[in-house]
Amino acid sequence: MTESMTQECAALYVVPTPLGNLADLTRRAEEILRSVPWVAAEDTRHSGPLLKQLGVRARTLPAHQHNENEAAARIIEKLQAGESVALISDAGTPGISDPGARIVAAVREAGCRVVPLPGPCAATTALSASGLLDEHFLFYGFLPAKSGQRRQALEALSGIPAALVFYEAPHRVLDTVADLASVFGQRTLVIGRELTKLFETIHSLPLPEALDWLKADPNRQRGEFVLMLSGASGEADSGEGERVLKLLLADGLPTKQAAKLAASITGASKNALYDLALSLKG
Ligand code: SAM
Repeated sequence: MTESMTQECAALYVVPTPLGNLADLTRRAEEILRSVPWVAAEDTRHSGPLLKQLGVRARTLPAHQHNENEAAARIIEKLQAGESVALISDAGTPGISDPGARIVAAVREAGCRVVPLPGPCAATTALSASGLLDEHFLFYGFLPAKSGQRRQALEALSGIPAALVFYEAPHRVLDTVADLASVFGQRTLVIGRELTKLFETIHSLPLPEALDWLKADPNRQRGEFVLMLSGASGEADSGEGERVLKLLLADGLPTKQAAKLAASITGASKNALYDLALSLKG
């Protein structure tokens, strides 16, 4: 798109909203919401009270996961008519496990400016207080709802030397934590629950103990969750992973099974252990 086209459009502002504490709305977010003529909201009824409380007079238009393409077309019309639009989701940052990415892509494709505002996001909020020491993190968002697919997704992540960050709903948290424990074995799990709200909890514990901890009190299974898992150590050649692998191989277990089991027990990377097992056998 040409520079002149960009200049003809008004801007789309991507505006994060609080996760649960109104005071977390930034001053800039408030200013933008008050100044734009249009707010594109994931759920206009849900955002109504927030906008009313802020004295926002902008008209709203719906922009949810089932109408993103039509919403994008309407938003582009407004922008090309010189009317700026603020995009918000129900809570946190639009486009992060929320609708928004398609709208942003379409607006950029149309040659209009997209202006991101920093602000609340459950993943970074949770990570900042997790105490996990991993240098890297991988934000996964929601895992598949079905256990088979979820385990498959988790298996694919098992060798990654980065903390893993998942979103989870309360009705699935027990099943997901059970699958995490069976795929990853010995790692640290940090459970971030109801962040920025009255019952905010940030609890760190060894993954094998997590299911019992959650079951011990039904309140621990309520609310919104960020689950954070320490990353694969990647030290399969020198650490606990190698010791366990050698024991299992000496017991006659097939290479693949031994690597998988040693990875589950120690939290070391399954792929690295498999490579090590092959080289030991060779
Ligand atoms: N766009 C949002 C963001 O920036 O974090 C995420 C939206 S996603 C539909 C909702 C999920 O985010 C919840 O199921 C939960 O996993 C996580 N989440 C949102 N608010 C949270 C909170 N206050 N405490 C813990 N997790 C939260």
